Amino acid sequence: MPARLLDGKDLARRIRARLADEAAAFRDRYGLPPGLVVVRIGDDPASGVYVRNKEAAAQEAGFAGRVVQLPADTSREAALRQVRDLAADPAVHGMLVQLPLPPHLDPWELQLAIPPGKDVDGLHPENAGRLALGREDGLVPCTPRGVMALLDENGTDLRGAECVVVGRSNIVGKPVAQLLLARHASVTICHSRTRDLAAACRRADVLVAAVGRPALVRGAHVRPGAVVIDVGMNEITDAALARDYLDGQPERLARFPKLGRALVGDVHFGEAREAASAITPVPGGVGPLTIAFLLDNTLLAARRALGAGAGAAERA
Ligand code: NAP
Repeated sequence: MPARLLDGKDLARRIRARLADEAAAFRDRYGLPPGLVVVRIGDDPASGVYVRNKEAAAQEAGFAGRVVQLPADTSREAALRQVRDLAADPAVHGMLVQLPLPPHLDPWELQLAIPPGKDVDGLHPENAGRLALGREDGLVPCTPRGVMALLDENGTDLRGAECVVVGRSNIVGKPVAQLLLARHASVTICHSRTRDLAAACRRADVLVAAVGRPALVRGAHVRPGAVVIDVGMNEITDAALARDYLDGQPERLARFPKLGRALVGDVHFGEAREAASAITPVPGGVGPLTIAFLLDNTLLAARRALGAGAGAAERA
């Protein structure tokens, strides 16, 4: 029996509707909306789409969402000054520096200039440290929170489960592994030097792929009945690859010649869904939840800043 589809779009819509209500209540209580600022430096085209989506989602939910755009030749000093000015602004509750940056700027240095309480990407070492120490009082990266929300929505029992995370980035793989561990799963983290990836993946009750390689995880990697969460977002433009990767998705394959491109995950969807009990599609799986949890983190940061305590995270 083909796997159940884990619909991230629908879940994200519900979370954003709740956040819109909570943002309105926040505004009534404190006289200002939760504020999110995205700093974009330079003109990387993909990040242009991402920051516009973040700004639009924030505004739609009644947050004060804005993008601060700086030119690609912004000096290190000017970039740091801008980040520090925003960090000092009491109307800014959450902020992030959109990556990638122009090569002369160091992302680490700019991320360190964001106070941990406003670091809604959860990348500051203080937030990463709190997560590693099993504490719930930091800010946790948004995409990993989305992964956990999908597992909860599926009713997956993580206690004692074998979980395999493919990818060890600071923004996805490592925090996903920490969150799974905190829920009492046994966690294996795989990466580019893992000797037998297929064998490691086949042990998984829950398989999370966050790699950035189209369809790296094939049907043979998936244990029958596993829950498969595909974080990858890879654009392909090659027709032969599309025929392979979109096999089993005839509507998407039929659209390919007209569009000339398709978005695929790190998992071969057609093969994996034959073995899995539940699987996220790409697009429409993890992706929509990232922005929902960016707003959730902003509201959480705003509540903490104004002394209203936690709330959003616990209810997510
Ligand atoms: P990243 O920083 O490039 O990390 C990729 C990880 O995959 C690394 O740990 C790397 O191992 C590992 N890897 C690479 N090739 C491998 C292989 N052949 N076998 C096993 N592991 C391999 O990427 P990321 O930022 O975590 O993003 C991963 C994917 O998720 C990308 O497609 C990205 O677009 C997507 N993403 C989606 C969302 C969303 O909202 N849906 C958010 C963030 C990211 P090493 O450490 O050994 O190099």
